[in-house]
Amino acid sequence: MAEDESRPVAAGHLYVVATPIGNLGDLSSRACEVLCACDLIASEDTRKTGQLLARIESRVPALSYHEHNEKERAQELADKLEAGQSIALVSDAGTPAISDPGFRLVRECRRRGLPVVPVPGPSALVTALSASGLPTNGFLYVGFLAPKSAARKRFLQEHADFPYTLVAYESSHRIDKFAAEIVEQLGPERIVCLARELTKLHETFLVGPAGSVAPQLKGNNLKGEFVVIIAPKGFEL
Ligand code: SAM
Repeated sequence: MAEDESRPVAAGHLYVVATPIGNLGDLSSRACEVLCACDLIASEDTRKTGQLLARIESRVPALSYHEHNEKERAQELADKLEAGQSIALVSDAGTPAISDPGFRLVRECRRRGLPVVPVPGPSALVTALSASGLPTNGFLYVGFLAPKSAARKRFLQEHADFPYTLVAYESSHRIDKFAAEIVEQLGPERIVCLARELTKLHETFLVGPAGSVAPQLKGNNLKGEFVVIIAPKGFEL
């Protein structure tokens, strides 16, 4: 829904606000305006959000909305929206509802016909993909893959000939295993990009054939947050 540009928020609207994934300079001025002007902030972690709000001098109260209370809170927050409050939804980092809490609340708003306004900004998957050099014309984002090795291997086998780029999130303690599984299942020539600590001090892109990228995951290169990108079969850098 288009907005009156003179007012950052409108009554009864849910704002889905993206926040930085590392570099605080990436918080948009529109995100700041919304986070200062709304009635309530639904936050994945009120302590973390509190630090961001202090930085931008927002005095708006925050209410927790996380994976353990999402179901009930979605109803409660939708009731508040119906009563005319303006609410901003934020997660710890990046875009809410993208491998983060948010989907249930947004769906509830859509069910009730309540307006939902995106306030776009960082998301690790698009940030990584845009600077990877791997094909961006089409991609499948799969979020976090299953923690069990067998399920991840099955996923790789099933998508070995997928014609578009694959994008996944992976935690630091499994990244070396996952990289080795890619070599094993898709072969050492498959082009991959491991994007680490995006927008932060130790931002690193490991790009190239999986067989030469996987062995680079040692020591400091194992720490931090990762986006894993796998090019389609046959792609050459
Ligand atoms: N909603 C977020 C978004 O829009 O990107 C994603 C949240 S998800 C719980 C967290 C995962 O995103 C991390 O485990 C990592 O895989 C990826 N991620 C988040 N920030 C990142 C960063 N600065 N560098 C690399 N990966 C990041």
